[in-house]
Amino acid sequence: MGCRSCEKACQEANQQAKEIEHVKWRRVLSEDGNKGKVFLSISCNHCAEPACVKVCPVKAYTKRADGIVVHNPEKCVGCKYCLYACPYHAPQFSEDTQRISKCHFCYKRQDQGQQPACVAACPTKALGCGKLSELKKTQGGVAELNGLPSAEITKPSWVIIPKE
Ligand code: SF4
Repeated sequence: MGCRSCEKACQEANQQAKEIEHVKWRRVLSEDGNKGKVFLSISCNHCAEPACVKVCPVKAYTKRADGIVVHNPEKCVGCKYCLYACPYHAPQFSEDTQRISKCHFCYKRQDQGQQPACVAACPTKALGCGKLSELKKTQGGVAELNGLPSAEITKPSWVIIPKE
């Protein structure tokens, strides 16, 4: 419904105050649909074949055994290769730090059995998380929509359930 609770929860849980104005790990996109506005909450998709991991010259990216793609800002040199390689524009460059940062799927919260901040904050449960194979089975959905990149490029780990 476009309340942007997920954006706010992400910013509060993960980002420094000085970065909030121009760094958004999660963003809500909107478009006019046949029956009114439609929204898509988007962030890093922790892809099966992540372009960010492939192009990073200092190996700042790692893919955990559970599939979460984590970026280490300590290693980052701010070259922005990942920013240009990611078809979802997930890596965010901070003018303050001159480095990239990106959604880490709240892995520390998940390691403690909690949901990611965006999922926990969504008042209509439009966001969920879990094993991709289970989600595909129980939710159905698609991996790409008109206007989004082809899922063949990086094999994003998400399912989208279109409204219309
Ligand atoms: Fe990397 Fe972009 Fe895929 Fe996230 S969405 S894993 S930043 S290629």
